[in-house]
Amino acid sequence: MDRIGFGYDSHRFAGDRPLVLGGCQIEHAGGLAGHSDADVLLHAITDAILGAIGEDDIGQIFPDTDPANAGANSAVFVRHAIELAGRKGYRVGNCDVTVITELPKLGPHKKVIRQNVAELLDVSEGVVSIKATTNEGMGAVGRGEGIVVMAVVMMVAC
Ligand code: MG
Repeated sequence: MDRIGFGYDSHRFAGDRPLVLGGCQIEHAGGLAGHSDADVLLHAITDAILGAIGEDDIGQIFPDTDPANAGANSAVFVRHAIELAGRKGYRVGNCDVTVITELPKLGPHKKVIRQNVAELLDVSEGVVSIKATTNEGMGAVGRGEGIVVMAVVMMVAC
C-alpha cells in the first residue's frame, strides 16, 4: 500500500555561513544556523520520507549532539531515509515542497534545486515540485528571521 509522509522544518538565519537549500549554495547575506549544513529543505524532505515509512524523525536518527553530524552535508540524511525506505520496499512516487521565506527570492534557483532533489530521491524531475512563497510579512518568517519548509512525499511500494 502506498504511504504519504509530511515533513516540516525551520531554521533561523545565522549570518556567517553559506545558505544551502536543496543542496544548492545560494547567494545571500547569510546562511542558516544548524549543527549540519542546515539545509532546511532537505531536512523537511527527510522527515517526510521517514514519516511515510513509520520511522523516527531526523533529530532522533541524526542527533545534533553527535559530532559526526557537525557540518554534515544533508544529502546524507536524505540518502539514509531513501535507503531505509528501500529496505522496507518503498520508493518515492512524488515529492511536493513549499519553501516559506521573505528572502532570498527562490525563482532563479528552483530549477537547480529541483534537479538536485530529483537526483537525491532517485526519481525524474517531473515528480518533484519545489514551490516558494513569502509569509506576507507575518510573524518570525515574515520578519526575515528564518526559513520554513514543508514537504509531502508519496512513497509507493516497489
Ligand atoms: Mg533541521
